[in-house]
Amino acid sequence: MASVLFPRQSRIAIIVLGLTLASVQLTAASRSSASTQEKALRILFVDVEGGQATLFVTPAGQSLLIDAGWPDNDGRDADRIVAATKRAGISKIDYVLITHFHTDHVGGLPQLVAQIPVGTVIDHGDNRESTDAPTVQSWHAYQELLTAKKVKRLSLKPGDRLPVKGIETTVISSDGAVIDHALPGAGQNNAACKTAEHFPLDQTENLRSLGTLIIFGKLRILDLGDLTRDKEYELVCPSNKLGRFDIYIVSHHGWYQSNSSVFVNAIAPRVAIMDNGAKKGGTPSAWEIIEKSPRLEDLWQLHFSDEGGPAHNVATEFIANPEGPDAGHDLELTAWPDGRFDVTNSRTQITKHYPAR
Ligand SMILES: [Zn+2]
Repeated sequence: MASVLFPRQSRIAIIVLGLTLASVQLTAASRSSASTQEKALRILFVDVEGGQATLFVTPAGQSLLIDAGWPDNDGRDADRIVAATKRAGISKIDYVLITHFHTDHVGGLPQLVAQIPVGTVIDHGDNRESTDAPTVQSWHAYQELLTAKKVKRLSLKPGDRLPVKGIETTVISSDGAVIDHALPGAGQNNAACKTAEHFPLDQTENLRSLGTLIIFGKLRILDLGDLTRDKEYELVCPSNKLGRFDIYIVSHHGWYQSNSSVFVNAIAPRVAIMDNGAKKGGTPSAWEIIEKSPRLEDLWQLHFSDEGGPAHNVATEFIANPEGPDAGHDLELTAWPDGRFDVTNSRTQITKHYPAR
């Protein structure tokens, strides 16, 4: 190094100058990454073992959790959601959207509310499935939270917007009804409807799922909870009311009762993220439909699907929790208004970048 040419005093001065320059550069770098982070939407896909718990934190600092996982297990799912809120830097959850009253979606809510303040719960209206004991039990626990005024309640119907700041939202489905008009930019005739399979009406809470379109800048994100194939058909036939999506939060944990080919091919996501468990969701037929959909770049899975086996699972780097002991790893998506986004596997800490299209 050139320092050999300078006396000791000068060498020290050069080192100090160098350190100062380095620290200026570091500060500038951290400032720019902080400002980039400020504009980003973060979505954390919490592993609740085949239930749903998807946490959105908007650049406006508001939070929306779609579903709260399972009850019991010593509060496992509530613990995992709270850990995700800490990673996201929030100390309360502004809105918890309950897609429907099945136990894997609403069951964990009482344990969650006991651990972290929750502002408002958003739902499709009252539970309609009175024949399934765990669902009825979860519904009663939900009503107790409302009676005790632990949370406020907001019930929404198709076409309504969520009051979350920092993202634009439209309710697509609620309580068995779906939007009756095409979304802006959508409405194209769907030729595949002519030969599409017809499915009988689901008789459970699944078809009542509160489904939401989320727009963030140029990005379109779809979450329909466990909405079933009969309702998917209404959304994309005879014309595609929804249009195409950048990110599809795979319905029903990747189960065959949702994810019909006429629907998945119409919404044609770039990236699909599946909240399956090792033994729940990730049905081979549904997995194949998503994998072969026309614009798909990647499918990410919260778990290796035992049912899928070697032929119907993605490569291990796209799976948060592969075969073996389960550590409850998450997937995290960071999105920017210009349409870029990243997906990070919390197990490997490897991030894949998706440029704007
Ligand atoms: Zn479910």
